[in-house]
Amino acid sequence: MARHCSRTGCTENATVTLTFQYASSLVWLDQLSGSREPHAYDLCDRHASRITPPTGWRLEDRRRPLTALTYGRLAG
Ligand SMILES: [Zn+2]
Repeated sequence: MARHCSRTGCTENATVTLTFQYASSLVWLDQLSGSREPHAYDLCDRHASRITPPTGWRLEDRRRPLTALTYGRLAG
C-alpha cells in the first residue's frame, strides 16, 4: 500500500521516514519504514532533501545512496 508525503499539499509517494529524538536533538532520515510510526513523518524525496533541522539539532541521513537510488527508480 502506497503512503504519501505528509507535507500539506504534496501528492508524491513517500520514500523516506523522518524521525526525531528530542533528548539528543537529532533528526534522522531513513528509508521508508515498513509500518507507520506514531512519531515518524513520511516524506517524498523532494521534501526529504529540503529538510533543515532546527537550530542546535543534527541531521543524520541513514539512507544508503545506492539503495535510495534503486528505490526511487522502482517508485518512479
Ligand atoms: Zn512531499
